[in-house]
Amino acid sequence: MTSQRIHLSPPHMSGQEQLYVREAFDSNWIAPVGPHVTAFEQEFCQVTGAPFAVAVSSGTAALHLSMILTGVGPGDEVLVSTLTFAASVNPIIYVGARPVFIDSERTSWNMDPNLLAEAIEKRVKAGRPPKAVVVVQLYGQSANLDPIMELCGRYNIPIIEDAAEALGATYKGKTPGTFGLFGIYSFNGNKIITTSGGGMLVTANGELAAHARKLATQARDDAPHYQHSEIGYNYRLSNVLAGIGRGQLAVLEERVQARRRNFEFYRQALSDLPGIEFQPEAPWGRHTRWLTCITIDPDEFGVDRETVRLALEAANIEARPVWKPMHLQPVFQGYESVGGLVAEDLFERGLCLPSGSNLTEAELSRVVETIVKCHRQVTG
Ligand SMILES: *Cc1c(COP(=O)(O)O)cnc(C)c1O
Repeated sequence: MTSQRIHLSPPHMSGQEQLYVREAFDSNWIAPVGPHVTAFEQEFCQVTGAPFAVAVSSGTAALHLSMILTGVGPGDEVLVSTLTFAASVNPIIYVGARPVFIDSERTSWNMDPNLLAEAIEKRVKAGRPPKAVVVVQLYGQSANLDPIMELCGRYNIPIIEDAAEALGATYKGKTPGTFGLFGIYSFNGNKIITTSGGGMLVTANGELAAHARKLATQARDDAPHYQHSEIGYNYRLSNVLAGIGRGQLAVLEERVQARRRNFEFYRQALSDLPGIEFQPEAPWGRHTRWLTCITIDPDEFGVDRETVRLALEAANIEARPVWKPMHLQPVFQGYESVGGLVAEDLFERGLCLPSGSNLTEAELSRVVETIVKCHRQVTG
């Protein structure tokens, strides 16, 4: 294969990052914590509207801290979207709690508020309300937050928003991740902006933010000597990586526009093919199209999702199946699932197409031609 590989969602630097990184080197702020970390947090608050932000080493670390600060512990149940990445669920296990998986709705592919209501009401009636709900916002799109917040508000159940994939999206004009008790974001290498690795915890509660900052830096008490009254973690983002984050955050809006243009290109080129549908853009806000995801109906299209994925791979193009639902994961067998057929269907038929903000039109055309060829080969 001579053509260059097209990746699913590679990093896209603006050039500004290096200036911030150089500043960190010039001032010898290489250690974690430093002026870039503070500035990155402040700028993140401005962009998202979050009152407080704590920069950490990964989105997973941010989720772990939110579990601890919500008081989730052994024996508790936490309701979480089944259609997601394992990192949404692992922190529930870290603190000894049990996940209960909630299926998706078709409108957004995110948590179905009706199934969530069913799961919550059943538990409230039994006198064992869930300790928290983790709402995931998939592929750049907010979940249907109003009914979820109304429901959780009624029973006083804290919401943790896993907005790792949804930075730049909106829900009724506001940023998903800023509605719950906590919201988390990821700056992993494949996300819409990246620090190579990193994450952010946001909250409207200043005391919780301060506590998160303390837990993330080994939980040192305010004393001249090393004194600890609780278990801490080494989860703070480094000052060097925060510099990269500042450069990336400055171009977030451009990145959203570029990814939405990718989606528009795919939509125009592929939506006339029989059996191809796109993840819908729900009416409540802006989808960033972090990833453009399609579903392929094999009866109508002629071949199935996996055949298309392998054809793309043979053309040196990276595409990925939609997340394998958590209730189907070997590691999570034995935990309850409320529904699950929608997520299973999206996994069976769903494919994430190359969606990087640095894709060229020639590369987008290569993806489209490969998919069209799959269809033509069987229909003649
Ligand atoms: C990427 C991702 C995470 C984890 O973020 P990291 O920074 O890689 O730890 C969590 N949840 C979802 C939905 C993600 O896509």
